[in-house]
Amino acid sequence: MQGSLLFLGTGGSMGVPAIACKCSVCLSTSAFNKRRRSAALLQVDGKNLLIDAGPEIRQQLLDACIDTLDGALLTHPHFDHIACVDDLKGYCYAQKKKLPILLSDETFEEMRFRTHYLMDKEKGENEGLFFEFKLIQDLFGLVEFAGLRFKYLSYFQSGMKVTGIKIGNLAYLSDIKDYSQEVIDAISGIDILVISALRQTTSPMHFSIEEAIAFSQKAQAKRTYFTHVAHDVDFERDSSLLPKGIQFAHDGLRIEFNYEGLA
Ligand SMILES: [Zn+2]
Ligand SMILES: [Zn+2]
Repeated sequence: MQGSLLFLGTGGSMGVPAIACKCSVCLSTSAFNKRRRSAALLQVDGKNLLIDAGPEIRQQLLDACIDTLDGALLTHPHFDHIACVDDLKGYCYAQKKKLPILLSDETFEEMRFRTHYLMDKEKGENEGLFFEFKLIQDLFGLVEFAGLRFKYLSYFQSGMKVTGIKIGNLAYLSDIKDYSQEVIDAISGIDILVISALRQTTSPMHFSIEEAIAFSQKAQAKRTYFTHVAHDVDFERDSSLLPKGIQFAHDGLRIEFNYEGLA
């Protein structure tokens, strides 16, 4: 069965253009140099699974005409990935039921603190008013969520746990810096890798382009798409520098993957 991944946003935490920046990329008129904060929509078998809900998610979902959602995965509790979870309550109203949200224990703890007003305190500390939280306790495992079956895996960014997934022959790993061999093992056999690559220079929080290329080669992905890309990268200028099989994703790009019987 064919599934697709729509890149709703491919920018780093500041987005591109960045506020008050006059660099050539931020001033560029190319649509390929406009990057909203990273988010993606997986569409498989009539199901819609959202990955992350940052500060632009409302406009991203409106622009992509996404009228139904079966669930959302929150990869980690940084602003650029969870800032506008609140906006997803629109699906709760439209679908007349709570929206399932998948997230790690750690992400939930921070979410609960930040968006305490979205919790149904009378019903219990894990009860959301609009959302039904499904917590992931282990670092690696299989999950059935939003009508789909996939593997989740964990890696780290400055000591904070981040959740990635492998669904069918595709893996989506954003905001990765430190990882164990188990991550490579968990995604073995993938054809398509979506991975964050912030910029050319190193960062304490993110893979540089060079580190992301090395990871892609380790994972033996046939095709790799870079997301979570900062304003240091000019899409046209820098695309030609990437090895064969690796490219920058861009907002609005849709790619296909194979879901059948794999996890
Ligand atoms: Zn991020
Ligand atoms: Zn700039």
